[in-house]
Amino acid sequence: MGLREELESRFGSNFSDSITERFSHSADMGFVPQLVWSGDIKLNLIPDYVIYPTSVEDVVDLVKITLKYKVPIIPYGRATNRYGNALSVDGGIVVDFAKMDKVDVDEVNSQAISEPGATWKLVDLAVQSKGLQLRTFPSSYDSTVGGGIAGDALGIGSYEYGFISDNISFVDMVNPRGEVVRLEGPNLALASGAEGITGIIVRAGVKLRKYAPTEAIVLAFNSFDDTVKAIGEFYREVIPAWHVQVRGPSISTNIADRFNAKLSRGKWNMIVMYPSTRSTLVEPKIYRIAQTFNAEIYEGEWTGWWSFNHGVVAALRSKGLLIHQHGLIHYTKLVELVNELKGFLGELGKLEPNSGFDLDIDLEKREVLLVNAFTEVSLKNEDKKIIYDLAKNTLMMDSFIKVGGSLLSIGIFAHKYAKNRLSAMGKTFQQLGVDRYEVIKKYKEEMDPEELFNPGKVLEPKKRGKVVLEIVGKQQEALRFRFGIGLAKAIVPGGEVQGFKVVKRYLDIFADYAMQCIDCAMCVTVCPQFKLIPQTPYAPKGMFDFVKGAVTYYYLKGGVDIPDDAIVELSGCHKCGLCDGVCPAKIPISSLLVRLNGIVAKKMPEEPPVDVPLLQDPELRSVNDNSSDIILWVGKNLVDNPNVAITVLRLLKLVGAKAKVIGTTYDSGFMDYISGGEKLNEKMEKNKSVLASALEVITIAPEDYRVFSEAYKDYSNMNNMRMGFEVSPIELRLLKSLQIDGNGEEIYLHAACYATPYVGEVIKRLTDLGFRVRKVEGCSGAILEKNLGKRADKMARALGAKYPMLVTLCPLASLKFKENGIPAKTLVEFIAEKVGLTTVVTSGTKAKLELSDSEKQELRNIITTSLLKSLSSKSSIIADTVTFTSSGIDEYKKIIENVIVEALSDAGDGIKVHIKKLLENKKAQGATYDDIVNYLSALIKELSNIISTMQLDPIIGVVINQVKGLTSEQFDEGVLRQTLILLVRENEKVIKERATALTADAAS
Ligand SMILES: Cc1cc2nc3c(=O)[nH]c(=O)nc-3n(C[C@H](O)[C@H](O)[C@H](O)COP(=O)(O)OP(=O)(O)OC[C@H]3O[C@@H](n4cnc5c(N)ncnc54)[C@H](O)[C@@H]3O)c2cc1C
Ligand code: SF4
Ligand code: SF4
Repeated sequence: MGLREELESRFGSNFSDSITERFSHSADMGFVPQLVWSGDIKLNLIPDYVIYPTSVEDVVDLVKITLKYKVPIIPYGRATNRYGNALSVDGGIVVDFAKMDKVDVDEVNSQAISEPGATWKLVDLAVQSKGLQLRTFPSSYDSTVGGGIAGDALGIGSYEYGFISDNISFVDMVNPRGEVVRLEGPNLALASGAEGITGIIVRAGVKLRKYAPTEAIVLAFNSFDDTVKAIGEFYREVIPAWHVQVRGPSISTNIADRFNAKLSRGKWNMIVMYPSTRSTLVEPKIYRIAQTFNAEIYEGEWTGWWSFNHGVVAALRSKGLLIHQHGLIHYTKLVELVNELKGFLGELGKLEPNSGFDLDIDLEKREVLLVNAFTEVSLKNEDKKIIYDLAKNTLMMDSFIKVGGSLLSIGIFAHKYAKNRLSAMGKTFQQLGVDRYEVIKKYKEEMDPEELFNPGKVLEPKKRGKVVLEIVGKQQEALRFRFGIGLAKAIVPGGEVQGFKVVKRYLDIFADYAMQCIDCAMCVTVCPQFKLIPQTPYAPKGMFDFVKGAVTYYYLKGGVDIPDDAIVELSGCHKCGLCDGVCPAKIPISSLLVRLNGIVAKKMPEEPPVDVPLLQDPELRSVNDNSSDIILWVGKNLVDNPNVAITVLRLLKLVGAKAKVIGTTYDSGFMDYISGGEKLNEKMEKNKSVLASALEVITIAPEDYRVFSEAYKDYSNMNNMRMGFEVSPIELRLLKSLQIDGNGEEIYLHAACYATPYVGEVIKRLTDLGFRVRKVEGCSGAILEKNLGKRADKMARALGAKYPMLVTLCPLASLKFKENGIPAKTLVEFIAEKVGLTTVVTSGTKAKLELSDSEKQELRNIITTSLLKSLSSKSSIIADTVTFTSSGIDEYKKIIENVIVEALSDAGDGIKVHIKKLLENKKAQGATYDDIVNYLSALIKELSNIISTMQLDPIIGVVINQVKGLTSEQFDEGVLRQTLILLVRENEKVIKERATALTADAAS
């Protein structure tokens, strides 16, 4: 057994090596820039595996496995730091603590016992119910306890309580030998600020204070001078506040404008927070300071998140490009620091592209200031991300050091300041007689001689990740240019935004927004999808990090291939909009995810019409009345679960209703609707004749309800179609007509996404009938994932594990649940049971034939061979044109596109021949027409699945080798690789359509 197998067998579904997981764990707020990893420096930021431990035992076993195979191991909280601290620099295993977030409250000792993956917010909320609250926490309230301890910085409440390490009573750590050790007192130095290089934090005691409501007062000073003096007064007067923060004039204006925050525009705003119980101690002193400096003074609002750093970063980033550097200095050095910064950044308090800077300052109890200096450049967001203004950042770092301060964090970028940072920030440890830098260094040398634990951070690496040392060289290089602006073209091969452009082709506008995301993780906390499957790619932040990871991968490997299943995995979303509501960067996340769904839907091939003979049965046929103006829309969405359609017909018979039954060969056009509506008109035209005279359309699938009630209404006016019908979901119809006594029975009702408009009414009617309804939210993604992705399976299992039986409004979700071993039924089936109807499946209505594993494998081989053969047949013409690769992907694409499309068309034809053979074999074995249709449909689905999920790298690699053998010309292999990958991905529909150009008739 090798490493991969051992990890998979030990961690099962908590192990992943998919590109979705790996890419989404390859970026943090700092996002390592192209300047750093392009050219010679190959920082391998993409982990090979991601593990989600759920217990201390998991972590111990994982450490033992990493020691056995000598692979790097990198602990990961929520990746909200900005210096690449939680990123791999040499592949290996990232350990994401999203599933270790339990919190217990030890009221006697006034502490929370927290697992590392719990966020500060979670801890705070858990303890507030016991009359307690956090003393201090990073202003990134949604980051984790493990990450906070390992980073050991200042945050909200530091004026009274100091550093995070001052507020931790103990840490349990799995050391680099795989032993669990408890660290207390001076020994805490081993874990605090060590950024995961000395071991993995698995539990911690977080000190708490008594709960009291927080008051806030804002003092608005007219000048920096007054502000500096007022800070001095604060320390001299010993004002018993809890948190004190100062925001510069430009920052204040931006936050006030963008977020309507209570700050004075253009002034130096000092926000003072204190427990209401101390008002009489704090307020007189503050009023005296305000009077002395002629400052405006008014009541503030501390609960607004703008009071945290998010507001600053988000407000400024939306304006232009932000470069900032945190540092710690003694408060008496503030003027000196400003003079240093002025030397190369320009005027203080004036933030404009390429000139000026502003400050955001937290006060700490030992007269230390956490100063965050911000400056702005005129580059576009994506340029900045790719280029990174290392020059300015480097100068800012140096300024903090020059005035005797230290940096807040080291990460990948600033090892040379490690000693300074750990000592200057370690005042608590100094008081305890501990030199934290020496302790960590010695321990690391003894306990982790192989440098497996988060290599390349804090200490200069000697073995693994040595490449980070070359960053300093790049920084020096950057400094030779004026602040790095315009640098990209000069020193970055291939132009500044090539990787970004490539990834954007797969992810469209999603990529632009990924560059605006400030990685605060607020969306992660609220997302119900993440709550169900606490894995990072399933939360919006992870999706944006995926984009950045993919850009990185492009530069590392000379190309990137993002198959559709990766996008499906990313795009599953319940459309609740909660993330949109919290995102400080104001990214319209949920609508982006809906659009991402559309991109995938667009690529799905049209399945052949399958006629499920529902009306062969005389009993069911009696419900049909072709002259009725009420339509029962069964439609193609029911092909997968025809049992539900049969049950509906039986129930309608029971209530004596008649309707014109529209069978499974009809398509409402739902997939066309969600993929942007291109073909929807065509579908509407086809359905016009059956819908034109209808007064009511009853739908069974929520997807059909959505498309009829939204799209048909909107578009019919545009297209001059008369669509005067009402749309009714079948459940509401039945619950109105049938007499059922709920008798207090509890139902877990799965509210499928597309049923949102009517789920409230369904719940009301069920409740009126006497049921106790518990609403269960969560998108099963079943409609898109009939073919692609594993997310729906995970979602189904996660939802199902919580409830004894799910009753869903969606026939496809019901199928998905059942496929995953979860007891589930549709509400229609549930109603049928209540009225004593059995739901026997009649012959001819069986669910679709599934392909056997060997048939699937055979199809995969056929596709791979055909694609390789057809692309290989073009290798001489490719070889003949390779010199044009020097013009870049866009230009080369234009030259070679027709050739590749022709090859894909040939591949499709080749596959079709094999499919015909397979069908003939089935016929020879005596299969009926129905069987053949079902088999063809199953083949088409599997074909689509294989093409959209296969990794193209190996096939393209063979073609490139052939090309190399055919030409002696120099060419850009990276451009060739990426162009071929993109052309195949963009045109994969050609293969699907050619291969499946068989109708059901042709199959007969
Ligand atoms: C808007 C915004 C505001 C911020 N405000 C502040 C602030 O006020 N104060 C502040 O200090 N920081 C702040 N930060 C930076 C960042 O949020 C903090 O550094 C935070 O503590 C990181 O926590 P995390 O869970 O995201 O950890 P990550 O970023 O995932 O990891 C941070 C470090 O901890 C290590 N680590 C994570 N989990 C463990 C574990 N279980 N065992 C051992 N090592 C581990 C990682 O390897 C890495 O080195 C802010 C960031 C943002 C985006
Ligand atoms: S809209 Fe989607 S991504 Fe956003 S919080 Fe809701 S489920 Fe999560
Ligand atoms: S998408 Fe918005 S809420 Fe989520 S991490 Fe990014 S900035 Fe924060």
